[in-house]
Amino acid sequence: MSFVRLIYASRATAEFQPSSIQSILQSARKNNQQNAVTGLLCFNQRGFLQCLEGKRADVNRTFQRILRDPRHESVEIISYQYTEKREFESWNMGYLQNNQVMRELLMRNTGSTEFLPLTLIPEDALAILKDVRNMIEDILQEEA
Ligand code: FAD
Repeated sequence: MSFVRLIYASRATAEFQPSSIQSILQSARKNNQQNAVTGLLCFNQRGFLQCLEGKRADVNRTFQRILRDPRHESVEIISYQYTEKREFESWNMGYLQNNQVMRELLMRNTGSTEFLPLTLIPEDALAILKDVRNMIEDILQEEA
């Protein structure tokens, strides 16, 4: 069965408050599980980079809801591809701290230590998402 993988970037608005993280997490966990949408949302105080994978209609419907959310703006699709295999087996969210590990991850994948999601090309966007996914999986394995 074919899936689609949508990657987009956006900028946080003043409506994106610390409490928004919990509310986005709750909605996304509930909806994405129901719709079999997987992926990863990377963010810092200023911007978002998200990958959504699943059946085309489910990914499109999810993205249309996200597009209307006033907690972000300047939403730009970076890539939209068909794939036979998901890269992300579950849905997760990762806060990109401005620390040495994250600066090295960004430098390795983009040539800059700054997280600038709206400037990313598709290959670099997916590379960041995969590296953050691996970091999250390592942390979860250590905790298990
Ligand atoms: P519910 O989950 O039942 O309720 C929506 C909840 O969101 C309520 O608690 C409400 O208080 C809160 N809420 C909505 N808008 C605001 C606002 N402006 N300020 C404060 N609280 C608000 N949704 C997904 O389903 N999957 C995703 O992967 C996903 N990723 C997101 C990524 C980003 C960057 C952002 C900004 C939002 C994302 N969302 C995601 C949330 C999405 O935009 C919708 O808010 C959500 O899907 C609505 O879900 P629902 O209709 O089931 O409502």
